Amino acid sequence: MIVQDKGMYEILAQPLTRINGVGATLEKRLMARGITCLGDLLLHLPKEYVDDRHVALIAQLQEGVSSRIVGRVVSKQARGFGRNRQVIIRLADESGQISLNYFHSGYMMTDARLSEGREISVRGVAERWNGYWQMSHPEWCVSESFHPGFQPVYASLAGLGGKRLGTMIRQLLSILPASACSPLDGLLSEQFHLPSLLQVFKQIHHPDELGRDALEQAVGRLKSEEIIVYLHLMRQKKQAAVCPAVALDNEDKSRALLNALPFPLTDAQTSACHDIAIDLESGNRMHRLLQGDVGSGKTWVAALAMARAAGNGAQAALLAPTEVLANQHAETLQELFEPLGLEVALLTGSTRAKARREMLKRLASGELKLIVGTHALLTEDVQFEHLALALVDEQHRFGVRQRWALTEKKNENNGAVHLLGMTATPIPRSLALALYGDMDLSIMRGMPPGRLPVETRVISAEKMKPLADGMQRILDVEGRIYWIVPRIDEDEDGVSVDQRVELLKGYFPAANVIGLHGRMKSKDKNSALDAFSSGACKILVSTTVVEVGVNVPEARLIVIEQSESYGLAQLHQLRGRVGRSEKQGYCMLVAGEKASEASMVRLKKMVNTHDGLELAEADLAIRGGGDAVGTRQHGEAGFRLLDISEDAVLIRQWHESLPDFTPDEAMQRFWRPFAESTD
Ligand code: ADP
Ligand code: MG
Repeated sequence: MIVQDKGMYEILAQPLTRINGVGATLEKRLMARGITCLGDLLLHLPKEYVDDRHVALIAQLQEGVSSRIVGRVVSKQARGFGRNRQVIIRLADESGQISLNYFHSGYMMTDARLSEGREISVRGVAERWNGYWQMSHPEWCVSESFHPGFQPVYASLAGLGGKRLGTMIRQLLSILPASACSPLDGLLSEQFHLPSLLQVFKQIHHPDELGRDALEQAVGRLKSEEIIVYLHLMRQKKQAAVCPAVALDNEDKSRALLNALPFPLTDAQTSACHDIAIDLESGNRMHRLLQGDVGSGKTWVAALAMARAAGNGAQAALLAPTEVLANQHAETLQELFEPLGLEVALLTGSTRAKARREMLKRLASGELKLIVGTHALLTEDVQFEHLALALVDEQHRFGVRQRWALTEKKNENNGAVHLLGMTATPIPRSLALALYGDMDLSIMRGMPPGRLPVETRVISAEKMKPLADGMQRILDVEGRIYWIVPRIDEDEDGVSVDQRVELLKGYFPAANVIGLHGRMKSKDKNSALDAFSSGACKILVSTTVVEVGVNVPEARLIVIEQSESYGLAQLHQLRGRVGRSEKQGYCMLVAGEKASEASMVRLKKMVNTHDGLELAEADLAIRGGGDAVGTRQHGEAGFRLLDISEDAVLIRQWHESLPDFTPDEAMQRFWRPFAESTD
C-alpha cells in the first residue's frame, strides 16, 4: 500500500515491495540493477510503442505483418504428449478462420478461458501456410481485457522481460494516488500550461493517444523536473562559490616549470594560464572550467597551476574519473615536476593499505604537496594540511557535488579551495554556460603546433583485408594501434573484446594483442595500458574505456568498429587518441553492415571536419534518435534522463527562464542520488 498523503517524490522514494507481486527476492534483483525504489521503475521508459488501436479482420491479414484480431474459439486440439504437447486453436471471426499454434503448451487444453465459443483477442504475425492463415505463439487474452491503444514496449532488465516490467509499471501507476503532486506541478501548469508529473507518467507509460508531439511533450515535461533541479543546484553553488581564498601570488615554481617544458606553450594555453593566474592571485576563490579539444594540451595548463600552488607552500590535488587516467596523469606530472624537486603521489582504489596510510600522513602534515587520484581522493580520511587548489579532469563525468567534494577538504585555518574543472567535451558556449553555469569559462581552441589532422576514412565492414594491410604498415614503422569494439550490452563487453583479440592475434602474431574493457580489474586494466604505452603490446583492443584522455603518442591508427553507433563528438574523442605526435595519425571508421544511408552521411562529416566544436554542433543539428553527442558520457555526469545534445534546447530554455523555485530534499535526492552520496 502506498501512503496517501505524501508528495510525489516521497512516494517515488518508497520501496518496490509496495507493488503487488513484488516481494523481497524480486526487489533484490531489481536493486542490483539500480532500480531501488518506485521512482526508479517509472524512469524505465518504454523504448518504443506498438500501435494496438486497430483490430483487423482475418480476411484482411497481411503476410508477415503483426496484427491484432478478435475471434471466437471454434475448436482446440492437441498433438503429442505431456507438457510438450502442441496446441492448435482454430479461431473465427465474421470474415474467416485462422490457426493459432502453441508449442509446449499442454496446459492450454484445460484453460477455461479458451473453451469453445469463448471470444479471445490475439496479437501475432500472420503467416500463410498451405493456403490457410496461421500464427505461431501469438499473445492472447480474453477479449474483455483487451484495450485498444498504444502499447509501450520495454527493454528487459535484471532478467525480467519487458512484458513483466510493463505489468509492474502499470500496476504501480494504478496505485499512485491522484493527489501525488510534484512541487513543480502548480508553477509549471500556471506559467507554462504544462501537465502534472502524474499525468506525464501516465501519458508515457500508458498513452491513450500518441501523437509524436504529445509524447515528446510529456518526456520534455518529465525532463524539465531534472533540469530545474540541476540548474537550481548550480545557481546555489554559484552563490556559495564567491568567497575569499588564499592568494597564490608567488610565481617562482610555475615559472620554473614553464622554462622546463620541452615546447613553448601554444597561444591558447598561454591565454588559459593567464586567466587562471589572475584568478589564483585575486584573493577570491577561483571557479573556472577549462574547455579544450582533445589533445589541446590541458595537462600542462593544469601542471602550471599546480606548480603555482606548491610554490606558495600550499597543496594541489587532481581528480580523474578513471584509474587509467589517474595513473597516466601521475606519470606525466611526475616527469614534469621531477626537475623542480617536487613529488607527485598517486592515490586510487588499488593503492595498498600501507602505502595509503603513509601517503595520508604526509598529506596531512603538508610534506606532500601534489597528489593525483580517483574517487579514492574523496574519502573522508584523506586530509590536507593546506589544500589550495583542486583540479577535476573530465569534469563532466562527475556530478555537481563530486566536482566540489575536493574543495570541501579545506583546512579550517585557510581560505576556500580554488577549483579548476577540465573538459574536452566540445559543447557550444551557450550550452556550456547553462550546464556549467556555476563556473567561469576558458576555452582553448587549436592544437599544439606540428600536429597533422588525423587522416580519417569511412570503410565498410567487408573491406577488412586492405585494412589489415594498412595495419601491417603501421606496425612496420613501430606505430601502435587501437581497435575499438562496438559498444554493446555491458554483460557482453568482455566476450566481444576477447573475440577480437583472438581474431587479431591470428593476423598479427608478433604484435602481442591485448584486450581492455571496463569490467576488468583495475590492476589488469593498468597493466594492459602500460603494455600498450611501453610498446610491449602493439595492438590494444578496447571498449570505449580509452576514450577519456589517455595519451600514447606512438598510437598512429585507431580502428572503430560499428562507428555509426557513436555520436560524432564521441568519435572525435576516440580519434583524439591518435595524432598525438608529429607523425601522421589515421582513423578508420568501420561502418557496420546495417548502417543506414543517413548514418553514412553523418560519418563522412568526420573525414573533413577536425574541430570538435563543429562536430558537436553538426551532431546537434542532425540529432537523430539515440544517435547524438556523447550520450554515454553524459549519462555518467549524474543525469538520469537528460542527454546533452537531445535536450540542449530544453536546457538552454530553462537556463534562461529558471523559475524561482527551491526543490525540496526528496526531489533533489531523487534526481541527484549519486551526487548526494559523495557528500
Ligand atoms: P588534453 O587537452 O587532451 O588533455 P594533453 O594535455 O594530454 O591533451 O596533451 C596532448 C599532447 O600534447 C601531450 O603529449 C602533450 O605532451 C603535448 N603538448 C601539450 N602542450 C604542448 C605544446 N605547447 N607543444 C607541444 N606539445 C604539447
Ligand atoms: Mg587530458
